[in-house]
Amino acid sequence: MKTLVPILGDQLSHGLASLRAADRRTAVVLMAEVAEEASYVPHHKQKLVLVFSAMRHFAEELRRDGWTVDYRRLDGPDAPGSLTAGVEAAVLRHGVSRIVAVRGGEHRVIAAQQGWGRFGVPLTLLEDDRFMVSTAAFEGWAQGRKRLRMEDFYRWQRAETGVLMEAGQPLGGQWNFDKDNRKSLPKGMPVPAPPRFAPDAITQEVMALVNDRFPTNFGTLQQFNWPVTRAEALVALERFVADRLVHFGDYQDALVEGEATLFHSLVSTSINLGLLSPRECIDAAVAALETGAPLNAVEGFVRQILGWRDYVRGIYLREGPDYVHRNALGATRPLPEFYWTGGSGMRCFDAAFEQTRDLAYAHHIQRLMVLGNFALLAGVDPHALHLWFLIVYADAYEWVEAPNVIGMSQYADGGLLGSKPYVAGGAYLSRMGNHCGSCRYKVKEKAGPDACPFNYLYWDFLARHEADLSKNQRLWTVYDGWRRFSPERQAEIRADAERFLATVC
Ligand code: FAD
Ligand code: SF4
Repeated sequence: MKTLVPILGDQLSHGLASLRAADRRTAVVLMAEVAEEASYVPHHKQKLVLVFSAMRHFAEELRRDGWTVDYRRLDGPDAPGSLTAGVEAAVLRHGVSRIVAVRGGEHRVIAAQQGWGRFGVPLTLLEDDRFMVSTAAFEGWAQGRKRLRMEDFYRWQRAETGVLMEAGQPLGGQWNFDKDNRKSLPKGMPVPAPPRFAPDAITQEVMALVNDRFPTNFGTLQQFNWPVTRAEALVALERFVADRLVHFGDYQDALVEGEATLFHSLVSTSINLGLLSPRECIDAAVAALETGAPLNAVEGFVRQILGWRDYVRGIYLREGPDYVHRNALGATRPLPEFYWTGGSGMRCFDAAFEQTRDLAYAHHIQRLMVLGNFALLAGVDPHALHLWFLIVYADAYEWVEAPNVIGMSQYADGGLLGSKPYVAGGAYLSRMGNHCGSCRYKVKEKAGPDACPFNYLYWDFLARHEADLSKNQRLWTVYDGWRRFSPERQAEIRADAERFLATVC
């Protein structure tokens, strides 16, 4: 029985369920660089290079393993315009008698796959079992719960998997060590550099293709340094565990001028593509406890993957395609131009922007507390911000990006994902980082044209949403602070915010 096995660009795992279900002697693997996927949003150039190069390397590996691979290049004479067109043509070309595929991660792709049943041969769509939790298990966990909080999900997962558990209790007597994980980086402390992955001939060829076909897409390619094979991804993981995991916890929230990656792992692109499995990343970190990695670092890292990653995927699949259009706070401001050009004058923002442009990467706290925080405070349309985040990062896929942006960062789902909006003024940003010293604004000034915009935008946001948010128990103290301001001071804050926003949006 000849089987067609279509493999998507983020399904680059040798243990993929569809490969396990097929026989390499009779199957044809279809991989296609399709224009539709390359342009449903105008991706960062590095994202395009990463995905196409990783796909081409993976196809080579499959061939070496004895698979027949029908690989369609974007610049080939018969490149399919869409995944569906590619599958339809391959069914005819190879005379296959069935299609076996793994369900895609995003609603858009799943809907397309469901249409593949009309090509006259049976279609089997398998569950993507590369996640820690199946969709059915997530549903089982979520059923009947009043609230779907990550912390509850994470504790359940710890108990289910036994990761960092001892005799049914969390190792070290605590589920999380977040309060130890909020240090700013001491001046002069060295940060080990992540490994370099020089672009090989395949990557260079893809770079030329991307420059040729997508010349106006956002971002630069000069500093491209993403692992494009499993072997490279394993090096990235090993080097993280050996060199940077030790301080991952301590400086997880730090913001440092000139240190784009700090002690972060840089494994998101590899896990999302399928080059690494979440379980092996977790196991590698846990094993490092034996060689002296501190528990606050290991637990902090494990929580991101065992907790956050599977949790946001579960929320995305459960909430359906309209989730990306939620706008609980009714924010309508257009995205400021400086999200595309930089030059905002706010050094913390511009630093995050510049590395986003040059590396297709910003670490979590930059995404959440700088780029996301600014948009939330300014009242930017969450859908516009969602599209921006989907475009600019090398690890961006809607299933992981949308819950982080719409839910965690913008509170646009009305508190489904977060118990309160993640907002902060300049004092927080100054405490966590060192950008303020080289900023044109003054973080200690609270009013007037030189004051840090985050200061008055923070209060202006709270004032705008007082009717709704002041009912949130976690914000009572904050609103007490707002009400203690004199009417004159409140008016001054609102006027500063209005003046600033009129100049940027
Ligand atoms: P580390 O800080 O080293 O964390 C380790 C791993 O944990 C990551 O590689 C990732 O796989 C996982 N992880 C950490 N935080 C999260 C999270 N909140 N949700 C899901 N997984 C998490 N992550 C993406 O993979 N793609 C995105 O498009 C994306 N968009 C985001 C948008 C916003 C507004 C925010 C606040 C977060 C977003 N994240 C996204 C989550 C997180 O910021 C990135 O996974 C992380 O910065 C990637 O860098 P790293 O590999 O060095 O991560
Ligand atoms: Fe950012 Fe404000 Fe500090 Fe400037 S002063 S770097 S805008 S926090």
